[in-house]
Amino acid sequence: MTAHTDVVVVGAGPVGLFTAALLDSAGVSVRVFERNPGASVVSKAIAMQARTLETFATLRVEDGKRLTDLLLPLGRPVPRTHFATLPTMLELGGFESAYPYMLFIPQNETERVLAEHLATRGVPVHYGREVGSFTQDTDRVVVSADGETCEARYLVGADGAHSTVRKAAGIGFPGTGPSNIGFVADVELVDAPERNLTLWSHETGSVTIFRTPGGYRVFGMEPGDTGLSPEEVAARRQRPPGLDDLRATLVRIAGTDFGLRSASWLSQTTDSTRHADRFRAGRVFLAGDAGHVHLPAGGQGMNVGLQDAANLSWKLVAELRGWATPSIVDGAASYQAERLPIAVRLGENTLAQSALMTTFTPAGGALRTMTSDLIATSPSLSAELAGWVSGLRVRYPVAGDAHPLDGLPAPDLPLADGKLVHRLEIDRFLLVDLTPDGRFGALASPRLDVAVGPPRAGVAAALVRPDGYVARAWAEAEVPEVTAAVLAWLGTAPAPLGQ
Ligand SMILES: Cc1cc2nc3c(=O)[nH]c(=O)nc-3n(C[C@H](O)[C@H](O)[C@H](O)COP(=O)(O)OP(=O)(O)OC[C@H]3O[C@@H](n4cnc5c(N)ncnc54)[C@H](O)[C@@H]3O)c2cc1C
Repeated sequence: MTAHTDVVVVGAGPVGLFTAALLDSAGVSVRVFERNPGASVVSKAIAMQARTLETFATLRVEDGKRLTDLLLPLGRPVPRTHFATLPTMLELGGFESAYPYMLFIPQNETERVLAEHLATRGVPVHYGREVGSFTQDTDRVVVSADGETCEARYLVGADGAHSTVRKAAGIGFPGTGPSNIGFVADVELVDAPERNLTLWSHETGSVTIFRTPGGYRVFGMEPGDTGLSPEEVAARRQRPPGLDDLRATLVRIAGTDFGLRSASWLSQTTDSTRHADRFRAGRVFLAGDAGHVHLPAGGQGMNVGLQDAANLSWKLVAELRGWATPSIVDGAASYQAERLPIAVRLGENTLAQSALMTTFTPAGGALRTMTSDLIATSPSLSAELAGWVSGLRVRYPVAGDAHPLDGLPAPDLPLADGKLVHRLEIDRFLLVDLTPDGRFGALASPRLDVAVGPPRAGVAAALVRPDGYVARAWAEAEVPEVTAAVLAWLGTAPAPLGQ
């Protein structure tokens, strides 16, 4: 028997689960297929960035709460982050965000909360079902998962780095292979450093230790594990390290094993850096690690993937409901046009971090010292890097005469009826009216909410997209120009809800 749904999502990692939750919040029917028999019990990502928290705050969950209300108590907020484990930290407190910090929270906890929400909503997450292939024509996609078929209008491949969907869609994955191999582990330490610690020596290598909600995470690399061929890395990955290997590595690098007792997870990292050459092939989209892989540096992969999900979901809703403009479907504001350049820059910034972290020579040490000093003495450099890593300064392409807010995540404006992130809905735009006379109230429509707020220097109005990005802002604005921008983004004839 063939099941039917609007969207099939392949992969119940964080990106697939969040995509499903966003689509469901708009009344779209969605099914998730996951090849693993159940939810993950180990955590790759620990760092949840500010922009992810802003996006999570838009999703309503049970009992009138937001997704952030469930996640924040499970994590630990930290006010600063790092670039390439350099000594000078990046401050996150200076951003006008509802969440000007990073949250340490295990990835599997985020996945658990999302999966529980989907279960409550009755969204099927089929564990133990591997998607092997699909076919598509102009109207539909037919997905095969372990002998069952499911027909959908769209398919989202959130199936990780080795994505079956990507390969079956014929989408290329260019980039560079691995040249180094690092260690990473979640451990119990009885002689842990009092504060988070990074040791870096061009002779012995590097180790970073920081406290997590469940213990400590250690990661690093030895000089002999750099400058490898992809074949050498592949051979090394056949022999995963054990607890004693990790202990010996720590002693070689730091002179102590920090009282290493046990490890709940031991793994390896590489700097393999690739991105999909297309994010869309007909009715098939890629999101998350299926679209980009890189060295896990600075806590970005999952967060960027979750932003893929946010960018894609509202556009898919618009397409399903029939109000997506050509620009949103395959033009300048399409999912691919906006997110593919982000994947490219993500690869570049993590390769740059790799160079700073793993060039174990005196020159590499000098580069680290100089870069760290530059960050310490240049507030704009520090803010730029913090904006990238946190996601708060990721900007989508804008027209030449842009307002400074255009293309950026909307700041946390204090609106008359609450926070901006709480006013966002996945199936409509928000017009923020900061004029003293509230002159844009009459523009409200089924696809456009209007919210008023106190006057603010330099901003009279802002048109905010469902994913929280500023489509257009005005320092001074009158009704005709704002109406023109609304029509450009929303089209002229939106279909009624539910069609
Ligand atoms: C050591 C380490 C530390 C990291 N730390 C951070 C961090 O602090 N912050 C951060 O942002 N990122 C971090 N990352 C990266 C982050 O873990 C990934 O970017 C994230 O898991 C990507 O999520 P995803 O949902 O796209 O893919 P995945 O988490 O890989 O999920 C894909 C899912 O698809 C399933 N699947 C695959 N093929 C099929 C199929 N054919 N049919 C059905 N299901 C399928 C898989 O079983 C899997 O469950 C880290 C990564 C590592 C390795």
